[in-house]
Amino acid sequence: MRMQHGNARHDTRLDERRSLVKLWPVNKDIMGANIKDCIIIGGGPAGLTAALYLARFLRSVTVFDAQDGRATLIPRTRNLAGFPEGIAGPDLLYRMRGHAELYGAFITPATVRKVEKHGQVFYVTTGQQIATARNIIFATGVFNHRPPFSREDHEQGLLHGLIRYCPVCDAYEVQNKRIAVLGNGAHGAKEARFISRYSPFVVRIPSDGSAAIPEPGIRALSTPMKDMSLSEKEVIVTVQTGETHRFDTLYVALETTARSDMAGDLNLRLSQDGHITVDTNQRTNMDGAYAIGDVTEGLDQIAVAMGQGAIAATAIHNSMTDP
Ligand SMILES: Cc1cc2nc3c(=O)[nH]c(=O)nc-3n(C[C@H](O)[C@H](O)[C@H](O)COP(=O)(O)OP(=O)(O)OC[C@H]3O[C@@H](n4cnc5c(N)ncnc54)[C@H](O)[C@@H]3O)c2cc1C
Repeated sequence: MRMQHGNARHDTRLDERRSLVKLWPVNKDIMGANIKDCIIIGGGPAGLTAALYLARFLRSVTVFDAQDGRATLIPRTRNLAGFPEGIAGPDLLYRMRGHAELYGAFITPATVRKVEKHGQVFYVTTGQQIATARNIIFATGVFNHRPPFSREDHEQGLLHGLIRYCPVCDAYEVQNKRIAVLGNGAHGAKEARFISRYSPFVVRIPSDGSAAIPEPGIRALSTPMKDMSLSEKEVIVTVQTGETHRFDTLYVALETTARSDMAGDLNLRLSQDGHITVDTNQRTNMDGAYAIGDVTEGLDQIAVAMGQGAIAATAIHNSMTDP
């Protein structure tokens, strides 16, 4: 039946055929006819490197990516070898996606909701489909606990270098600046000590209402913090007496949460703080299941995530019996 919509002709049979085509991979997957060599959950630096390697090993590989990883937050990374002038996180990801796709990797924007294993096959459920694979890689990253700013202020703060998360990445850029470190306990103190090498003006600010104890090279506010805000060029900290302190930048040292719930549901072994436990080939305790990047324990860096992606992809390729 044809219906006329203005100038455009609308064919309902065509719509039906299109929706069948959409469903077709699902049914085909379930029948076992379209089992990929590997599905990667997460298209950050870790997942995209694994995808590139697998595609170049002539393996079929699909990446499902929710596109909200830590690399998307990087205004400009300057410690990635080969980019002396730096590169913005989103630009790096764009290049990496194109690179992997060039060799045949499929990259789909979708959030994976569930992973199950039946026999030797992994079943991966997104909002749109169930896909199947012989191997799976978790490259889901971690989530940074955020300071008390609105979403807009947080974005602007990151963009203008007022809010930072990773001193290993960019303490070099804030030498001799007035630096606040927001963090509690041993973690906050460790981060402040690391940063104190770069500036004589480092102040540690606990977020839990306690007062920090000063130590060599690290100052402490006399009164616990009450509030925090941003101006165009400064981070303004108000303490409980109403007094304000101004900083050029704020390092957030509020811990992270590994995005490993699905891996836990699949009975993959997790560390006490929720990272996925892997061996030196990035293998988990389950045959065919791997984990790479920040979601595993280690130095949370792009270069590390990429290296682990290469290791996992090569291990998967070598583990498969067909040539
Ligand atoms: C502000 C900031 C600046 C940084 N600067 C630097 C720097 O200069 N140099 C450096 O080396 N490192 C830097 N880092 C650290 C770096 O971002 C991480 O180490 C790196 O991104 C880790 O890569 P990844 O692939 O493991 O994780 P991510 O980049 O976090 O990617 C994980 C991906 O998994 C996806 N995902 C998660 N769950 C699901 C799901 N259920 N379904 C589908 N997809 C899912 C996410 O959407 C995301 O795309 C910085 C971090 C931050 C926050």
